[in-house]
Amino acid sequence: MADLSKYTKELSILFSTSENILLISHINPDGDAIGSQLALYHFLKARGKHVGMMTPNYFQEFLKWMTGSENIDIFIRDRRKCRKLIELADLIIMLDFNQSNRLGESEKFVIASGARKVVIDHHLDTGSFSDIIISDTSRCSTAELIHELVSNLNGEQFISKPYSEAIYVGIISDTGNFEHGSYSSGTFRIVADLLDAGIEKGKILDLIYNNFSSDRIRLQGYAVSKRMVVIPESKTAYIYLTKDDLKEHNHVKGDTEGFVNLPLSIRGIYFSVLLIEKDGFIKLSFRSKGQFPSNEFASRYFSGGGHLNASGGEYKDTLENTIDYFLKVLKENVWRFEDAE
Ligand code: 5GP
Ligand code: MN
Repeated sequence: MADLSKYTKELSILFSTSENILLISHINPDGDAIGSQLALYHFLKARGKHVGMMTPNYFQEFLKWMTGSENIDIFIRDRRKCRKLIELADLIIMLDFNQSNRLGESEKFVIASGARKVVIDHHLDTGSFSDIIISDTSRCSTAELIHELVSNLNGEQFISKPYSEAIYVGIISDTGNFEHGSYSSGTFRIVADLLDAGIEKGKILDLIYNNFSSDRIRLQGYAVSKRMVVIPESKTAYIYLTKDDLKEHNHVKGDTEGFVNLPLSIRGIYFSVLLIEKDGFIKLSFRSKGQFPSNEFASRYFSGGGHLNASGGEYKDTLENTIDYFLKVLKENVWRFEDAE
């Protein structure tokens, strides 16, 4: 685990010498992106700083209850305002991503900005588009990193309910409520502090996880019963969804989130894939258990990447051809699962 204390001084100087701080999270922001962004926002606001927040595109409905989320500007909705925010910023902090293309349409403006830039992240293969990179791939979430950095900067735990809720949302989002991901004993120490700070974990769980539409639950049932293929000899299962499947279930953005994890709860399955038909290409999500490097598989065959056990990519062909290609390249890798347990 990286020692973050060396960044305390550097960040402290950056914060005290900046007039306009802009916090940016990645395209299609998840709970960790928004949680990290809001947590840092609450801390900096409490210090009297002038702070703006931006996401490249929309974030999901189930994150909108979070205090401060109404102050997040969305680049593709308010381009003019966001370009101004980027232009005026003298410090830009980018959260939960490490490749500049995850800035979406705001990328060229952020890159061109003269602001000092910091990346705070926990993914592999960091690109170079910032002055400072604070990254630790052993952390379960960017929120966990933020909490440690903020605690160091503050000299003790920063006490604020909206802050603590934001950190908690980041942690549970990236661990599937402590089901997967690289959470550690340190994560639980943080959670203990957050509980002491008064977060209502049951309420947050309901807001984040028990907040689906009936269409979404029906789509999940359909995906599992009609569109899941289990290949026991390859210790693999995949789910595919066509555009029509999504349309018939009144699909909205985010509805298929989490589907890729479902086949991993089948005994003997170590690799799970979700294929979704998009306009002109197929989006793939990969999940693995144990040592199978799903990210290597994603980058080698599907122009993608990610973490060892959670990654994604895409393929420009029809759904049928993509499945054929996937099955072919899977066969070439089956030996890797031989001693999977
Ligand atoms: P998800 O399956 O939840 O969309 O993505 C899981 C992880 O895989 C993400 O956190 C990200 O690191 C990675 N990932 C997903 N899609 C892509 C992609 O198209 N390219 C790359 N490089 N990584 C991806
Ligand atoms: Mn994350």
